[in-house]
Amino acid sequence: MNEKKIQWINKPRTWSVTRRELLNKCPRAFILKYGFKKKQGGFNRHLTNISNWTSPYILMQRALRGLIIQRLECVSRGVKWEENDIALKIRSRIIGGLKRQKSVLAVIEKRIGKSSSLRRNINQKEIDRLVEICCMRYHSIISAAPFSEILNGKIEQWFIFSRLTSTVVNDFELHISPDIVWIKGRNCHLLRFNVQGLNKLQHHKSLENTAMVIWAINQKGLPSNHERYVIENFVWSCGKWNRWIETCNLTDIQDARWIIMKDISEMQELYGRLGPALDLSQIPLAKDESICLDCGHRDTCPGGENLERASLIQSALEMAKAAQKRA
Ligand code: SF4
Repeated sequence: MNEKKIQWINKPRTWSVTRRELLNKCPRAFILKYGFKKKQGGFNRHLTNISNWTSPYILMQRALRGLIIQRLECVSRGVKWEENDIALKIRSRIIGGLKRQKSVLAVIEKRIGKSSSLRRNINQKEIDRLVEICCMRYHSIISAAPFSEILNGKIEQWFIFSRLTSTVVNDFELHISPDIVWIKGRNCHLLRFNVQGLNKLQHHKSLENTAMVIWAINQKGLPSNHERYVIENFVWSCGKWNRWIETCNLTDIQDARWIIMKDISEMQELYGRLGPALDLSQIPLAKDESICLDCGHRDTCPGGENLERASLIQSALEMAKAAQKRA
């Protein structure tokens, strides 16, 4: 496949909250994760795995999310669920995640020819602590409404959806589905749960949630009138689960669409800067050093060593290229 064709194929056309967040945290990490997908040769085939690198704490959060979904899926399919081996289930998810990351570490270390700065010893005590935190959060969510009402049958008509399914709007793939949908009276509730977030619902988060209504009104069997939707968000923050409930109007829906289209246009503009030569020097780095700490690219990215210096060099290179174009 020639470079131009690969570039055309890899041009971002997909939107999700995860992509939006990564774009805002570090444009370079975004491009490394999503900009090389179809160029499988050489080291590029490892980029997705390296991009998915994460800290043991985030692995714990992923284990929690996976377990909650598994629990709901079992109820929806009528599969028997053992509640007394929760700690074991969590432990195996965390240890499985750590094992998978070991092979990624081996690839990175082979490439850099030395020990990776991502390498750290995780002892049994640390894993025990993560399992304990995860157990507590799990029990706390399933005993809270609406989860408890789903489990005890009080909410009868409910459905679970995967965030991996996409909706096509204006030829773009949008991952805007809720995690759970249920019907109560005339209303249709759309809920997303986040295993970590802020303790206040910010305006842009509220618009991200409103995007679920765009998904819902495109679904057969769900109301086509936005006034019948109740948007819910369940978020762990400041040591507890917070539940936010909102309704939306047509302006909110338009704003949610606008924010998504603006993001996609930013993603494409950023991708355009790479050019056919895949020139990473034109892509800005992270806004904050803390973002680099658990980034899988930190051994090979200039930002991983000294973000301040690397950002200065990067913006100088960007300006030099812009001046060259103008000349
Ligand atoms: S190391 Fe930092 S600057 Fe480099 S890709 Fe990762 S987050 Fe971005």
